[in-house]
Amino acid sequence: MNFFRKLFGTDKPSVLIKCPRCLGKGRVDQEDIRRLKQELIWSPGSCAYCNGTGTVDPEVVKNVPPNACFLITNLPEKERKKILNGHPDALERGRRYEEEIRQFIEQISYLHFKKGLNALDIAGFFLTGKELMETYETEKQELLLFIEEVVQNEKRADKNGFGAMGENSDW
Ligand SMILES: [Zn+2]
Repeated sequence: MNFFRKLFGTDKPSVLIKCPRCLGKGRVDQEDIRRLKQELIWSPGSCAYCNGTGTVDPEVVKNVPPNACFLITNLPEKERKKILNGHPDALERGRRYEEEIRQFIEQISYLHFKKGLNALDIAGFFLTGKELMETYETEKQELLLFIEEVVQNEKRADKNGFGAMGENSDW
């Protein structure tokens, strides 16, 4: 009974919806990043939620929210698919990654706003013990840029009357 199988079977094609992360563009731009509050974590590029297609299976939205910060294009394809399928281990790894980033941002914010350290001091603090590494200067420059972004973001958030880290995500 091909008819019933098509109608009720598992091979029923699901109706795709417009990707809620990139709004159907296939690419995440600055505006999407602001809307999803990922200013410090994402940069513009191909959308990892819909894999650049602009549409997703509605099941995906149930499995993982569009602003899941850990779902990014430089994940291995297998891990990305696991996350989209709601695989518990992959989601747990993602949550841990998100938590680490949030703590890192909080530490930077604390060292700057509460302890009065400047970006260079903070970078030095995080890179303690790595001074002899070949990548030290590159890492330091990247870290300095990131610290600067965290500070600017916090100042903007303050002006708007809410703390950058104060908002609860879906997690
Ligand atoms: Zn998308």
